[in-house]
Amino acid sequence: MSEASEKALLESVPDGLFIGGEWSPAISGRTLDVHDPATGEVIKTIADAAVDDGAAALDAAVNAEAAWAKTPPRERAEVLRRAFDLVQEHKDDVGLLMTLEMGKPLAESKAEVSYGSEFLRWFSEESVRIFGRYGSNPEGTGRMIVSQHPVGPCFLITPWNFPLAMATRKIAPAVAAGCTVVIKPPELTPLTTLYFVKLLAEAGLPPGVVNVITTSTSGKVSGPIIADPRLRKLSFTGSTEVGRKLLEQAAANILRTSMELGGNAPFLIFDDADLGAAVDGAMMAKFRNIGQACTAANRFIVHQAVADEFAARVTERVQAFNIGRGTEEDVQIGPLINADAVQKADALVRDATYRGAKVLTGGHPIEGPGTFYEPTVVTGVRPGSDILREEIFGPVLSIVTFGDEDEAVRIANDTEYGLVGYAYTKDLARGQRLIESLQTGMLGLNVGVVSNAAAPFGGVKQSGIGREGGFEGIQEYLSTKYTLTPNPFAG
Ligand code: NAD
Repeated sequence: MSEASEKALLESVPDGLFIGGEWSPAISGRTLDVHDPATGEVIKTIADAAVDDGAAALDAAVNAEAAWAKTPPRERAEVLRRAFDLVQEHKDDVGLLMTLEMGKPLAESKAEVSYGSEFLRWFSEESVRIFGRYGSNPEGTGRMIVSQHPVGPCFLITPWNFPLAMATRKIAPAVAAGCTVVIKPPELTPLTTLYFVKLLAEAGLPPGVVNVITTSTSGKVSGPIIADPRLRKLSFTGSTEVGRKLLEQAAANILRTSMELGGNAPFLIFDDADLGAAVDGAMMAKFRNIGQACTAANRFIVHQAVADEFAARVTERVQAFNIGRGTEEDVQIGPLINADAVQKADALVRDATYRGAKVLTGGHPIEGPGTFYEPTVVTGVRPGSDILREEIFGPVLSIVTFGDEDEAVRIANDTEYGLVGYAYTKDLARGQRLIESLQTGMLGLNVGVVSNAAAPFGGVKQSGIGREGGFEGIQEYLSTKYTLTPNPFAG
């Protein structure tokens, strides 16, 4: 990829806030810098919204709500479908932009463009399938009508790790349901959302339906929006810590909320597993997105009879990784998002080794420029180690062993999180038992990646509330109304 084409792409990304269909600078004129984590360089300077800008964005969403809610579902669907086509048309640019601001290898960015754009197609199809029901009450004295309505103006907050998919997974169902939104992308990777929203406008989305505010002061700007009684819904993807704070704020106005929060995924490998398939699945579940995924396998819980062989095979694969800037060919491991992320991965590895774990490969930060950490395998991780409790969010594969199924399940469930689990076994009955005994919202049974626009994505326990994608995804943006009428045949 030439420097000139990167520059041209970055210049084509809007640098303003998108409010009421217009791009504008922040009222204060303040700006924020976006960096390439592979080099540390500033790649673009954009508007930095303050409280007034947030209020203007919410005004625009509120003003557009009534008309958008009445827009025929087919029209809403066609805007989303055109947006899907436009993202496909610009897939190379969207992919490159994600790599530039977030650091993941280009091949992974392209995979995210496919995954992320599918939400546009899926929810364009769901838009025309919003149904209710009609029937007699049991007494026969009346007719019950159950109908579905858009919840109203929504506030969407997204994380930096999947810059396109996290935005489309919220915007598409909201728009399909007839809601208007204010979206606040993360300050670390806001460019993909700005570029995508430009495409949405090109696809014919009316002014005010989607508004974007970028800011370096997320808490300050979000607070008044959440406190505004005209807001009807808050949808957040990010850390459990921030999600908990936002739930408290949302309680004041009893807001509808969807919370897609952190994970601590267990990856179970039984002694009857196809070990080759488990190794392939492990590499995907651990190292996709450089380990920076809420679905990333955090704890490899491996039967003691196969643990050494598994450790040796993954170590060999990890040692073969190419590390570098995601734009370079054949790179599988890019930088972590920032220096804090490197420090966190390093601290977790140090704590694990201090408590008795052994590093089989890696285990150190890589000298700059950029914020890289060596892809790492640690084995023999002892109970009580921080790495078993906290999200690693980096390229560190940690292994603990178990003796029987009950022990494996006990270790897997020993966390406050419950987003996704993975299990490799050839025993069908065991697989069925695991569906019931693992406390997670999702399970990869002999597969290492579960995400799909047609699937209900979400967690239990402190991993969140609600589901995104699938038939369930649009329900998050609809409210149910029940109407009773008299029996029309009664005297
Ligand atoms: P984060 O919680 O720090 O930030 C998420 C978003 O919230 C960002 O836009 C940020 O600017 C904003 N934010 C931060 N503080 C805020 C506040 N006080 N008020 C309002 N907004 C605020 O998370 P992150 O570091 O961007 O993302 C990583 C986390 O997201 C991980 O915990 C990961 O597991 C989680 N995640 C979950 C899912 C899921 O679907 N469950 C998907 C991706 C990421």
